Amino acid sequence: MIAPSPTTGMPPAPAEFDLELVRKYNVPGPRYTSYPTAPQFTEATPPAALTDAIRRDNQDARRPLSLYFHLPFCETLCWFCGCTTVITLKRDAASVYLDYLEKELALIQPFLNPSRRVAQMHFGGGTPTFLPPPVIRRLGAAIHSRFKFADDSENSVEVDPRRITRDHVRAFRELGCNRASLGVQDTNPAVQLAVHRIQPMDVTGQAFEWMRAEGYHSISIDLIYGLPHQTAESFARTIDEVLTLQPDRLAVFSYAHVPWIKPSQRIFEKQANLPSTEEKLKMLATAVRKLTEAGMVYIGMDHFARADDELAIAQREGTLQRNFQGYSTHAGASIYGFGMSSISQTEDSYRQNLKELPAYYTGLDAGRLPLERGLILSDEDRLRRQVIMRIMCDRRVNYANLSQRLGVDFRDKFAREIESLTDLEADGLLHRDDGGFMVTGVGALLIRIIAMRFDAYLEKGPRRFSRTV
Ligand code: SF4
Repeated sequence: MIAPSPTTGMPPAPAEFDLELVRKYNVPGPRYTSYPTAPQFTEATPPAALTDAIRRDNQDARRPLSLYFHLPFCETLCWFCGCTTVITLKRDAASVYLDYLEKELALIQPFLNPSRRVAQMHFGGGTPTFLPPPVIRRLGAAIHSRFKFADDSENSVEVDPRRITRDHVRAFRELGCNRASLGVQDTNPAVQLAVHRIQPMDVTGQAFEWMRAEGYHSISIDLIYGLPHQTAESFARTIDEVLTLQPDRLAVFSYAHVPWIKPSQRIFEKQANLPSTEEKLKMLATAVRKLTEAGMVYIGMDHFARADDELAIAQREGTLQRNFQGYSTHAGASIYGFGMSSISQTEDSYRQNLKELPAYYTGLDAGRLPLERGLILSDEDRLRRQVIMRIMCDRRVNYANLSQRLGVDFRDKFAREIESLTDLEADGLLHRDDGGFMVTGVGALLIRIIAMRFDAYLEKGPRRFSRTV
């Protein structure tokens, strides 16, 4: 087979992979929703340095805003969950939380250049639809009284179909949401029982129907492989079932078993019913095959989209971005996160809010931004961030293009890293020529292994990350 040239053409779609190869490279690694990655954020970063970064960020009114609201409440815990949640049945918790979100918005507002426009907004959690519709509408009023939105802003909400009414769907639509992602994970009742998340397909279908009827023009479905009782055959049925809904995007996540962070996951160890790595690989292969057969394009890191979706177009055009919300089409947007544990990003900084609800409230009661940790990026960090993001988004690197973009001689600056790709090339994860390198179909599913070679922090000491598969 002739290798595709790194300087022209699209990277190949994910290919069938060799089990031994994936075993070899199925090592813990970052998902690169940021660089440097979150473990590098530190409490030692002075809050004043982080607020100075916000001021710098607001000197340019043309830089778009991307807002993120973390809405942490869920009624019950799904045992696989890796999110930062607060489990409660008390609906009052939502309006108290909103009081604090309003305090946080009021504290940030003086820093913001009022001419900036919001290009993107995302509600994540937790379960945003835990909020009763009147609280959602109050949240909408709080946001729209403070921010101006671009006419074509992309506003999305994560939806738990089990806990939604048509009025929830309508309230988020009134707030400006035009996209949604629906948590499904698996449609098999045995799997649902084992993970403490019962969600009949007609419940998912109803939520989907309401969203389409209310004018959400892009709907994504989230699945997870690697859960108890799943097999390649059962997961194939799950994929077939969700495809009948005709989603615009699909995210197929590998279950991340991180019991040292999420102790509730230990229950799966006691039950000893998690699939083997070999079975997980078969599920991944099944997902890739079925979704590409269905005409979906592999965007990268678990994400698929219809060929006419903006993400697929951005990937073809080399303008795809990656941030804390996954893949995005918005280049150069600063992320302003609100709510406990949310992460914000400017050109030269990251900052994260306090991760526990009482501490988040206490910080705001004291009249200060509820920051826990952060990082001011060095020039070197910013350079490497661009390299890693281009690898994660484009799956190819053209040395000349990146040299021009970064203002350095790429081949000279990253000579050691390029040299370090030799074993990956020998194992068929990428092809190199004088002009650059391109990730192969096999390498597409192991992309973070390639990006890790450009991560200056991994050499400085081990961190605990989840595995690729
Ligand atoms: S509903 Fe979502 S956020 Fe809440 S526990 Fe389940 S998976 Fe986690």
